[in-house]
Formats: sequence, C-alpha cells, structure tokens
Amino acid sequence: MDFKNKVALITGAGSGIGRETAFAFAQAGASVVLADVNREMIDDAVQSLLASGHSAIGIQCDVTVETDVERLVEKAVSEFGKLDIAFNNAGLHVPVRNIADAEGEDFDTAIAVNLKGVWNCLKHELKQMRKQENGVIVNCSSNSGLAGIANLGGYTASKHGVIGLTKSTALEYAPLGIRVNAVCPGPVETPMVKAAMESEPEHMAAVIKEIPLGRLGKSEEIASAVLWLCSPGAGFVTGHALSVDGGFLAK
Ligand code: NAD
Repeated sequence: MDFKNKVALITGAGSGIGRETAFAFAQAGASVVLADVNREMIDDAVQSLLASGHSAIGIQCDVTVETDVERLVEKAVSEFGKLDIAFNNAGLHVPVRNIADAEGEDFDTAIAVNLKGVWNCLKHELKQMRKQENGVIVNCSSNSGLAGIANLGGYTASKHGVIGLTKSTALEYAPLGIRVNAVCPGPVETPMVKAAMESEPEHMAAVIKEIPLGRLGKSEEIASAVLWLCSPGAGFVTGHALSVDGGFLAK
C-alpha cells in the first residue's frame, strides 16, 4: 500500500498496536504524527523512525483532555499542512471483575479514555477534515465492542460505544466522502495483554483457549487491517466494524 504524501496521526502510538501502525504507515511513505500520554515512549518511537529516514513527529497528548487533542491536531496541521488519516487507538484495560465487585472509578476510566477520548479525537480531526473535504479515520474498538465479555463490563461498554460513535460519524461525513470505520482486534500480543496475563492469568488463559486460530494476534496484523481501511481499496467501506480476531466472533 502506498501512502506517499499522506499525513497520518496515530494516538496511543508509544506502544503495541499504535506504535506498530505508525511504523507501518511510515514504511508505506506517510508522514506520521505519533501521539501518546507517555512522552518517553513517543520519543523512543520517533527517534527510531527518524533514524530510518522517515518523516515523523511526536506530541504528548492525553486523549481525555479536549484541549490537548485540539492542540495535537493543530500541531499536526502546522507541521505537515493537512491531516489525511487518523487512527484513534489510545486505550486501556481495566481490572477484570464481576460487576458486583467492580469499582465505579474503573468504569469511569474506561469510558473516559476508550470512549470520550475517541470522541475528543473525532471532533477535532473532523473539524480539519471538513475544511479539507477529505480524510479517513479508523477508531480502535475490540471484539469486546461486538460481543459481551463476562467480567469486563466497563471495557465492553466503552468499546461498544466506539462502534456507535463510528457509525454515527460515518453517516454525518459520508456526504463529504470522509470515511470512518472501526477495527475490532481480538486478543493481541502487546504490553497491555502481557500485563493482563500477569494480573489475570486465569481469565486470559480462558480467553486464549477460545480463539479458533489457537494463538494471540500480532500487532502487525492489526496494523495491516488499519492500513487497508485507510487505503483507496476500501473506498466503499464506511461505518463498518472490522473484526481481526482469529475467528473469535465466528462461533
Ligand atoms: P498498549 O498498552 O500497548 O498501548 C496503548 C497506548 O495508549 C500506550 O502507549 C498508552 O500510553 C496510550 N494511552 C493510554 N491512555 C492514554 C491517554 N489517556 N491518552 C493518550 N494515550 C494513552 O495497548 P494495545 O494493546 O496496543 O492497545 C491499543 C488499543 O487496542 C486500545 O484501544 C485497546 O483497547 C485496543 N485493543 C487491544 C487488544 C489487545 O489484545 N491488545 C484487543 C482489542 C482492542
């Protein structure tokens, strides 16, 4: 896939799926804007991209803070002149708990980062894309956005919300030719999942047992789906939630 002369913004780009996707866009020729709440991880990723001759900047941004996101889009546009692509990927997991034992604070955190964070990003990216009258966006949901997952109520609610937001904005912006889709990864080998395997080994062992392909996904397998959704090959795809989950939801 060729993304030469394109500008792609990726949130949560300091680690896991976001970092891998930023590298994939850069390798396909795009100028990339890496955003993350973690400054060190962003600096590390950007240095590595620049050392390989790619065009990249890193911006510290907490997606739960609307003014941070507004500044992020402004800086991306002042640096590269436009915004062609956005992957709203920043997200986090919360402790696995039966709802009767769960903390309200964890529910609020899941909604603030995974759902309101995506809303903040969509709002400011679409302000810019509306001016340009073009652009394409992928939001990161999950297989927990398409099915209930026991003991993960807050996370599941946040990821279902991302799909609702994706469909609504896809309808709002289709008349301008701006496409908005969601990617729904199954369990993928990233620092987030490694941490869950340490803190919730029984839950994670049960989850992995349910994956028909019999293994965790790889970050690059999610990145390639995101690049395809952003490519002209997916030009007639909008408002869609694409499962990349080793067959998890086929059952
Ligand atoms: P990860 O923990 O490796 O990376 C997430 C990144 O998001 C981190 O760099 C973190 O610093 C950043 N982040 C967290 N809160 C932020 C905030 N408020 N503002 C800006 N950045 C923030 O996780 P990952 O596994 O790569 O997950 C990426 C996305 O994929 C998440 O939305 C996650 O819910 C989703 N997802 C992951 C899996 C999986 O199995 N790994 C499965 C389905 C969906």
